[in-house]
Amino acid sequence: MSSWLNSKFSIQNLSLLRMAIIITDECINCGACEPECPNNAIYENAVTWTFAQGTKLTEVELEDGTVFDATAPQEAVSEEFYYIVPDKCTECMGFHEEPQCAAVCPVDCCVPDPDFEESEEELLAKKAWLHAEVA
Ligand code: SF4
Ligand code: SF4
Repeated sequence: MSSWLNSKFSIQNLSLLRMAIIITDECINCGACEPECPNNAIYENAVTWTFAQGTKLTEVELEDGTVFDATAPQEAVSEEFYYIVPDKCTECMGFHEEPQCAAVCPVDCCVPDPDFEESEEELLAKKAWLHAEVA
């Protein structure tokens, strides 16, 4: 569950439901997707990630009210394959017509993640949050 959405937004129309993108274990670690992401949501395997990279975030508030520095390194999601941080993936909404990672992946291993279903409204709100387009 994305903490930043808590109580601020709600799913208004389930027909608009979309998903963050996930990289499957068919990834060949070619690195083609990483520079294409407008949110810097893609990282090489075993590399730590931060909310601040590729965004305008300076701090992040968790659901319990805890606030931490957006530059704080976070544990890699995958040790074996390139990975996507769900809280930074917007399906490229607001930037491109389609997910750019999926468009360039030579083995088609960037697919919708059923564990991170989000509405179009939520994805656009996430994009605005990442890039400081809202208060
Ligand atoms: S769908 Fe777009 S925002 Fe999400 S990881 Fe791929 S390139 Fe990044
Ligand atoms: S483009 Fe596809 S195969 Fe290459 S690193 Fe990204 S997800 Fe893996």
